[in-house]
Amino acid sequence: MGIAFTPEQIAFREAIDEFAARECGTLEQRHKLTAEGTEPTNMDIMRKLGELGWTGVSIEEEYGGAGGNVVDQTIFLEGISRGMIPATGFGTTAIVQGAYQRHGTEDQKKNILGGICEGNVEAIVMSEPGSGSDVGSLQCRAEKVDGGYVINGQKTWCSNAQVSANILTIVRTDTSGSKHEGITMLGIPAGTEGMEIRPIPTLAGPHEVNDIFLTDCFVPDEALLGEEGGGWMQLMTGLNSERMILSAMYLGIAQRAFDDTLKYVKEREQFGRPIGSFQALKHRIADMATELECLRLLIYDIAQQIDEDPTRVFAKEASMAKLKSTEVAKYISLEGMQMMGGYGYALEYDMEKHVRAGLVGTIFAGTSEIQREIIGATLGL
Ligand SMILES: Cc1cc2nc3c(=O)[nH]c(=O)nc-3n(C[C@H](O)[C@H](O)[C@H](O)COP(=O)(O)OP(=O)(O)OC[C@H]3O[C@@H](n4cnc5c(N)ncnc54)[C@H](O)[C@@H]3O)c2cc1C
Repeated sequence: MGIAFTPEQIAFREAIDEFAARECGTLEQRHKLTAEGTEPTNMDIMRKLGELGWTGVSIEEEYGGAGGNVVDQTIFLEGISRGMIPATGFGTTAIVQGAYQRHGTEDQKKNILGGICEGNVEAIVMSEPGSGSDVGSLQCRAEKVDGGYVINGQKTWCSNAQVSANILTIVRTDTSGSKHEGITMLGIPAGTEGMEIRPIPTLAGPHEVNDIFLTDCFVPDEALLGEEGGGWMQLMTGLNSERMILSAMYLGIAQRAFDDTLKYVKEREQFGRPIGSFQALKHRIADMATELECLRLLIYDIAQQIDEDPTRVFAKEASMAKLKSTEVAKYISLEGMQMMGGYGYALEYDMEKHVRAGLVGTIFAGTSEIQREIIGATLGL
């Protein structure tokens, strides 16, 4: 069975491609919008996407969204990456959106979901220096005080914090129970006193991820998302959606890396013929195309299944999607770089960006090893 897109979804996909071609179709445009490729999210572009109604694609109409489903959101996320639209911040935004849709109060939904519809970026941080794959071991402490919480501790690896309206911060409010008890979600607005955001330089430059230092940082009771102490279960119910969001983005990266490779091997000539006509490359391109097709079917099949039964938990499928999409994107981009020779390594082409994105995809939001652990557990191992 193929992917059964509606005519509206096909038109949406085309409109995203047209937006990408118009706004960031050339390397020069992309460099201008991203501070030479170092700022993955351009807020003017986010606002434009908001005005088009796309950042609210899967937000309920009552909060200003388009009321779309998971397939619609997947089309948008894939399109951002495929078009290299500098709106990478929409990834964490979509994750936070899901958390507020599931657990937010009416006021929180109006505020956070309404802001996302206008193009706001949102961030979420679980990780700490001592808590990576073992998220449940987190230590950052929030004390209940009159009228709110006082937070002390360090979070790390927070994507997009530098452009986010709020940072959904996962803290510990109680240490008396097991490690999965006493975990709480608090939304901290940008600029809150006691919260310092410091960039962590990475392969992608200075604006990808951040340390967050919290020193006597006060947030009011309204910052609490869901239940105090119920954060672990809330996190778990959101992980499937988080993995599908990243999978859609990585499908787009894999597709773009493939498209760029194919274009190059058709144009570049050596020994009097296009390099893509050498069997050594042609067969590998065929393998890349096959992997990509399998990935596309997997992602959209799971997205359609979620739309058909939103209450079902897709733990195995979502982990498979995260594992496969990031591994395929890494494989295709590295193959692309090899096939482009020195030009794949040069900054004047996009392939090196695809490689950098491909390298980190198998690390964040649960490494490939952790996804395999989850898949193995669902198989009774
Ligand atoms: C660019 C980037 C963006 C990020 N964005 C965010 C964000 O926005 N919010 C956020 O909260 N976090 C974010 N992270 C953190 C990310 O989720 C963690 O880096 C990731 O979960 C791995 O944790 P770690 O780096 O501490 O590695 P560790 O957990 O120390 O793992 C090190 C190695 O050991 C392996 N390993 C660990 N445990 C097991 C096990 N049980 N079985 C097999 N292998 C195991 C891992 O697979 C890995 O290969 C980001 C990270 C990066 C690099």
